[in-house]
Amino acid sequence: MSDSSAHPESGPDTVAATGQLTGILRRIADFGASVEGMFGEGDHPAFIQIDRLDGPVHAVIDGRKTTLFGTNSYLGLNFDPRCIAASEEALRKWGTGSTASRVASGNQNGHVVLERTIADFYGRPDAIVFSTGFMANLGTICGLASQGDLILYDSHSHASIIDACRASGATFKPFRHNDPADLDRLLTEATVPASRILVVMEGLYSVWGDVGAVKDLATVAKRHGALVLVDEAHGMGLYGEGGRGVTEAQGADHLVDVIVGTFSKSVGVIGGFCVTSHPALQPLRFLARAYLYTASLPPAVVASARTAIGIIKTDTALRAELWRKAERFCRSVQALGYQLCAEPGPVGSIRMRGKAQGLDMWRSLLARGIYVNLLIPPATPGGKVLLRFSVSAAHTDEDIDTFLGVLSDLTKVAQIA
Ligand code: PMP
Repeated sequence: MSDSSAHPESGPDTVAATGQLTGILRRIADFGASVEGMFGEGDHPAFIQIDRLDGPVHAVIDGRKTTLFGTNSYLGLNFDPRCIAASEEALRKWGTGSTASRVASGNQNGHVVLERTIADFYGRPDAIVFSTGFMANLGTICGLASQGDLILYDSHSHASIIDACRASGATFKPFRHNDPADLDRLLTEATVPASRILVVMEGLYSVWGDVGAVKDLATVAKRHGALVLVDEAHGMGLYGEGGRGVTEAQGADHLVDVIVGTFSKSVGVIGGFCVTSHPALQPLRFLARAYLYTASLPPAVVASARTAIGIIKTDTALRAELWRKAERFCRSVQALGYQLCAEPGPVGSIRMRGKAQGLDMWRSLLARGIYVNLLIPPATPGGKVLLRFSVSAAHTDEDIDTFLGVLSDLTKVAQIA
């Protein structure tokens, strides 16, 4: 990357200054230096700047046309003309921002209608909209569980789930990833009544790209009498006939008390939500501090989210198109000799042998106009170095062929697979 302004704190002056710092400032400066040093000379995965977008997955980076294989725009709806038109109209009618919390002047017609849209989409009576997916987990989990309760969560859970557990005041313990027997053990050993236990899992785990064992885990949780929450952030729009996620695809709706999701992936905007069928959980919005004490979503975002959910609900052809492309991509990557972390799907990771190989491959792909995400420990479960990809319905078949061609060339040159 040529633009040194992306590293405003780097350079010899900072290094010299770091040595004179103490306490909090020293700790943060040392951490900053370690992040910068993590990848040595050359492009740093955390500082890649997209200079222009030509649609959901086509960009210009450093003057080079680049195809994005690392976004969460699985359905390309962030550039859908219907979503853009809805946003534009709301922007003109309602202005740029709500400027207030839902409970203090920020509760507009659009927010209420969006909550109805999500509740209908999930076939549940009640929905709460949050300003991000992270806050949806934070607000919902902290609203549900508090001191004296126990949260059991899948060990591969997203940071927002873990932070929510920490902030809730409840006791929390991980169960082994996708392991109903381990969950059963923890539920059996629990010293609080099952009615005070919340079991948390995801529908689709987006680092490995593996599907959650939602039905099996929820069955165990329900046998004990615990509450079940599933985060469908990545599953929504990808799984299930109605696009509701892995819970729907596994026929586990009746076992799940609360579903949390986000608008920042298939829906193509930003925001989050939770849905529930428990009438007793209606007061949740007044317990969720991440709902109460922050501004509500901008009207333009609300309008496009509503339009996008309508498309996800009805456009099954778009979902089928995504799966066709994702499966072809994954099978071809496997045919080149690479190991994926999970069954083929729209999001997943290619295993690298170590950091040097991962970094080399990531930089070589970027230099040839292919942008994937490089993940290294401690950000990866199992301590693996991974090239994380996502396939979008917006990729053309040529985009996929180009990626595969580049990967094949690099594999031959470097004997990488
Ligand atoms: N849950 C999961 C499983 C996620 O992967 C993410 C984001 N990557 C979130 C929640 C947070 O969503 P958002 O980015 O919309 O805040």
